Amino acid sequence: MAGRGALLRLAVAAGASERLRRAHALSAEPPPTSADVLIIGGGILGCSVALHVAQLGHSVVLLERASVGGEASGLSAGTIWDAGLPDPPAAPDLASLSFLLRSGSSAILCALRGCDFTRCGALEVGCTRGECEFLHAQYERQRAAGLAVEWLPSAAAASLAEPMLRGGSVACAVHTPLSAHVHPALATLALATAATGQGAAVREGARVTSLRREGEGEGAAYVAQLSDGSRCAARHLVVAAGAWANELTAPLGVEVPVAPVKGVVWTSGPRAPGELRKILFGVEAHLHFATHGDGRSSEGAIPAYCTHGAEGNRRARHLYGRQCGPADSHQIIFGGDRIPTTLTDYAVPEESVASLRKHVGELAPSLQACGCQAKACTEGGATPSFTRRTGLMPFSADGRPLVGECAAVGFANLWLACGFGPKGIMEGPMAGRLLAELIVAKLGARHDREHEVQVASEALQWLDPCREGGVRRT
Ligand SMILES: Cc1cc2nc3c(=O)[nH]c(=O)nc-3n(C[C@H](O)[C@H](O)[C@H](O)COP(=O)(O)OP(=O)(O)OC[C@H]3O[C@@H](n4cnc5c(N)ncnc54)[C@H](O)[C@@H]3O)c2cc1C
Repeated sequence: MAGRGALLRLAVAAGASERLRRAHALSAEPPPTSADVLIIGGGILGCSVALHVAQLGHSVVLLERASVGGEASGLSAGTIWDAGLPDPPAAPDLASLSFLLRSGSSAILCALRGCDFTRCGALEVGCTRGECEFLHAQYERQRAAGLAVEWLPSAAAASLAEPMLRGGSVACAVHTPLSAHVHPALATLALATAATGQGAAVREGARVTSLRREGEGEGAAYVAQLSDGSRCAARHLVVAAGAWANELTAPLGVEVPVAPVKGVVWTSGPRAPGELRKILFGVEAHLHFATHGDGRSSEGAIPAYCTHGAEGNRRARHLYGRQCGPADSHQIIFGGDRIPTTLTDYAVPEESVASLRKHVGELAPSLQACGCQAKACTEGGATPSFTRRTGLMPFSADGRPLVGECAAVGFANLWLACGFGPKGIMEGPMAGRLLAELIVAKLGARHDREHEVQVASEALQWLDPCREGGVRRT
């Protein structure tokens, strides 16, 4: 597990400024014993909820067992696929909710300082006739909805947008000029810092060992016991513990269908800026799931949209890649696999890295060579080991995040913000803002926010944690 100290050392060694490091210093004081809202988990979800609840004027305590951004949020690739909002605007349905979340998250991350937010545009690339037909049909639907998408019908057109694709197998692409990337660890820290600036108490090294409910119904309070023997109580509890959400709620008698899925990324050594202009997304896995089903197992052991099955057998290849900003010395980073695993497994599967490198070589032969530089940044050198890493993504069973209150299973004021799988950076910040509106509305009606609360409740109905196949009372 990479801790915050380690992440910051990497960022600072790789060029992030001392000013940035100091700006993210969080308090080491013991956490307050009570608050209006208690949040467990200092990933991108927990930090966004903390910021937005505090901004709306309520007291917040966020407890993180290790380091803010030390798990999936800091280990992620930080890509944000964004095509703007439908024009004319439509009330979000399940299909279009992600546009709202991505566009809103981009705006939130863009406003944060010092996290390398870069709106460089992305290419979704197709290599076969089937992939290009699939991409084109998707493009037509998005264009008809008024989204910011451009069709690049040939290898030449795709290579003009991204010269690194020259000589590779790409035959067509969809360009989304609004797509962006961000340094995910610094973005998570920046959200936490902004939350403390609004009065939230964010505490690292604060492991919650058990949760219990005192009282029933709307009058109940939730009490968290910490590993140092202290406790913290609140009327509203938000579980934003990523892949560990179920571990936390189980003692309360609530089963959350979220499982750990390993993401693998492979990173080059330092590069010159501007070598890879666009973020790249392969479409192979999307086409596989569209034609073969989402691959979830009936007993729930394998969540939807995994690239590997129960025995570790590969079903499909997925690929994304981008060039990092100055905080990471402009490294080029690739990833894609989604491998079901356990809560303690961070081992890098060699097969995964080999497959990734081969896939990169097919799309962009000149980029594959960037792996050769990896030797320059192995352990012991001036630049820290940064060549490959894994993180545990919180996958929900059906592929839809779980965001909202658990009242329908008998747990009023217990809120979930988890299950974002491979898209928590691009959807989490806005989901956190919407959830904060609903929590604050329950803390006391505010006439000045009726519109925001209505928007939030219409949008989040699609992610209701108590939907069929969602949380269960045990
Ligand atoms: C390799 C990889 C690449 C990815 N690439 C992208 C991408 O390009 N774009 C994108 O949008 N998404 C990407 N993701 C997915 C994204 O990172 C996740 O969806 C997102 O970070 C989930 O955030 P979270 O806050 O729910 O969970 P986490 O970031 O995992 O945070 C949960 C936190 O809860 C804490 N916690 C757990 N138990 C306790 C406890 N008992 N007490 C206190 N604290 C506790 C943990 O320590 C952790 O910090 C990627 C993920 C990985 C691993």
